[in-house]
Amino acid sequence: MPPAAPVGPFSCPSCFAPASAAPTPQICGACGLAFVLRAGSRVDPTIQPPAYNPHLPSIKMRSAGLVVMQSSIVAPEGVLQGSLDPITGRIPMDQSGVPFGDIVSVAIWRKLDVVRLVLLTLILLPIALGLLALSVAVPAALIAAVPIGLLTGVSYYHVIAVRRNYARVTGSARVVQLQFDTPMRRRRAFHRELMRRAGLPESVIP
Ligand SMILES: [Zn+2]
Repeated sequence: MPPAAPVGPFSCPSCFAPASAAPTPQICGACGLAFVLRAGSRVDPTIQPPAYNPHLPSIKMRSAGLVVMQSSIVAPEGVLQGSLDPITGRIPMDQSGVPFGDIVSVAIWRKLDVVRLVLLTLILLPIALGLLALSVAVPAALIAAVPIGLLTGVSYYHVIAVRRNYARVTGSARVVQLQFDTPMRRRRAFHRELMRRAGLPESVIP
């Protein structure tokens, strides 16, 4: 969800304390969040987005919103954020975006999803361990223990190592907040193409 309060383009993406653009990650003095904040072509004449190419692929990510699924898209023209319909989860019901030529700033950061970590540990982990213990006595239970064990491992990797990845893109008229961690395999391409199409050098995800 985009922040409700008007946000300065040069601020911490979590607590909105004033911050300056920098090529490397910085730590917010007020809340301790590590993030990257870059100035876009709107305010920095040395930033030149590459020429518009309609044949570039759109990179789509999905994330769970409060009620409905959210989509975050790096399109050829710019970035888009929207809510997906609750029935099929495929149709954008609303969308707002920032064109690549209109970017004032980009902030990138990650966050640990504590709720998911707790749910994983309270629900999925005991099931996986229980099935594993059962398959010692009943080897046929491995049919269930192996996939559940793998699912648990991948889920932990996603929650702890990948974490939730966010980008706040501020344009002259709109602010969009994108989440780009699911599906995991598109995360790096999403980040790389967001920065490249905005004319910014790729930076690390702090
Ligand atoms: Zn902060």
